[in-house]
Amino acid sequence: MAETMLKKEYAKAELLKLNNRFSDLNGHAPLAYVHSFGCQQNVSDAEKLKGQLSQIGYDFTDDMTSAQLIILNTCAVRENAEDRVFGTIGNLKKFKQQNPDTIIAVCGCMAQQKHIAQKIKSTYRQVDLVFGTFAYNDLYQMLFEVLSQKTRVFNQTEKITDISEEFSQLRSDKLRAFVPIMYGCNNFCTYCIVPYVRGRERSRKPEAVVKEVRDLVSDGYKEITLLGQNVNSYSYGFAALLKEIDRIPGKFRIRFMSSHPKDASKELIDTIIESEKICKCLHLPLQSGCDRILKLMNRHYDKAQYLDIINYARSKKPEFSFSTDIIVGFPGETYDEFCETKELIKQVKYDNIYSFVYSRRSGTKAAEFEDNISDKQKGLWLRELLLEQRDVTTNWLSRFVGKTVEVLAEGEGRLADGYLTGKNDEGIIVEFKADKKYIGEFVQVRITKAMNWALEGESVEDK
Ligand code: SF4
Repeated sequence: MAETMLKKEYAKAELLKLNNRFSDLNGHAPLAYVHSFGCQQNVSDAEKLKGQLSQIGYDFTDDMTSAQLIILNTCAVRENAEDRVFGTIGNLKKFKQQNPDTIIAVCGCMAQQKHIAQKIKSTYRQVDLVFGTFAYNDLYQMLFEVLSQKTRVFNQTEKITDISEEFSQLRSDKLRAFVPIMYGCNNFCTYCIVPYVRGRERSRKPEAVVKEVRDLVSDGYKEITLLGQNVNSYSYGFAALLKEIDRIPGKFRIRFMSSHPKDASKELIDTIIESEKICKCLHLPLQSGCDRILKLMNRHYDKAQYLDIINYARSKKPEFSFSTDIIVGFPGETYDEFCETKELIKQVKYDNIYSFVYSRRSGTKAAEFEDNISDKQKGLWLRELLLEQRDVTTNWLSRFVGKTVEVLAEGEGRLADGYLTGKNDEGIIVEFKADKKYIGEFVQVRITKAMNWALEGESVEDK
């Protein structure tokens, strides 16, 4: 442990020297381009990578071609995300020939998988560094090895180290912050690669999470999203953590994701409803509305248990908001079973649905299931689901018309000039007429219209 720390400190000091020399010669700091694919956890990981890079003298650029260091932080959840990464790496071949000193790194969930690392090793020689999700803390040593030994480095370690609270983070947003509370997953849903690439569940200590949130609030952050693959299995008690964060003084909102329906308790619903700052919404991934498919997915709940949580929340607060994830075309799913999902969507009335065609992930159990549904068929079902959802969502969103809601104004809107955009407490996009001076503030907005993707309204602040 002490030896690792020494190596890390040595590599850090040497990299800083190298980068200072670069700055003296070029009149500017070396530039890093860090791009994340996939989920909020990846965005959060990239903020930590950037925090480490800024400590060794890097500045950041959005222009990949002007960077001395390119890091692609990848996602493995769906095949098309992997295809996009390989497309980007492929396009960098010529660039690397013309800029041999630029370091190209691929990290994250894709890079954790040995067969992917092997493919990059043999086919994409332009990539210098490939490291998985357990190696983020070794960034300095890996980078130093690449630079000092002019070698390619592949690090797919599966060794779980203690969660480091020593990292510095460079957050991309000044208003909204992601705060991971746990890493990994123990559930092994049969379609999902996450437990294989992020390991078993590890929870951060509540005092570390609470301190981070407290610091963010005093830095002016207005929306804190707690992250975990399954926040309900946070090992120190998720409802207790929420209550403690809710007591932190200041005007801010708390969101979290994701919740596994098998662990979503009535206590959690009560905590949300009774709190002052927790948004009155829950992202509860359904995946399928058919009990047979849920069993094949190894989800550990059935339709009735899922509806029990929904009905409990709505009995306490009828306008309680739910969003969900749906997988269309799971191996062996029949059209009638798919229709059960459509029925459940109508019954629950979600404010938002993230629906995807099933993507086969090698190494998972479902990858061995017979998949007799054509891609064309799956695409048609997805379209059918989206049409159903559009009507359900528009109707359900109309419950806000005529009401005044609080919106955190995030920036200029899309609807027309003079509009701002933000989200209400339920996480629904609101486009509203208001002066730009309100960007970054909580604004009271009167809702005038429900669309299928957002609400429309006007600020009542200046009236
Ligand atoms: S709960 Fe299931 S779907 Fe979610 S990350 Fe864990 S294994 Fe994947």
